[in-house]
Amino acid sequence: MMHYSEQEWMKYVKNELDKDVREEYEDHLYSCDQCLEVYLMAVEVEEAELPVISNEVDFTNLVMAQIAETKKDKPQKQKIGKKKKSIYQSAFFHYSIAAAVTILLMTTGVFQSITQYAENVQNPNLQEQRTSLTEGLVDKTFAWMDSLEGKKKEVDK
Ligand SMILES: [Zn+2]
Repeated sequence: MMHYSEQEWMKYVKNELDKDVREEYEDHLYSCDQCLEVYLMAVEVEEAELPVISNEVDFTNLVMAQIAETKKDKPQKQKIGKKKKSIYQSAFFHYSIAAAVTILLMTTGVFQSITQYAENVQNPNLQEQRTSLTEGLVDKTFAWMDSLEGKKKEVDK
């Protein structure tokens, strides 16, 4: 049986062979343990020759900086192409609306009442108590609104 030399396996690992030759090497690899060992050695040698990233943090920062640069470039190109693009179509606008709505819901206590509702479902015994509390708040709110209307009417007079 004819075997391939270490130099030949290096060529194979470095992808320096023609497709037909590569296939011959691969066929031989399946049937020859001796050459498989040489091939694995060649792979290790090739891996050792690959450039080593000396400082991973610097490398990450470099990549992130390049991504940031790419993102900066894109909107400028869009402005040149579509100057009349409405602000309502921009993703930032929708993001701002979503953020504003979230803050609004949080401050007006909608999330809190959803949480309370969930608690009521879990504890039916508490439901009556909660309902009366809510009714009391609603009554107070209506009373407050009535008093406001009353004041407004006084002003109108
Ligand atoms: Zn062999």
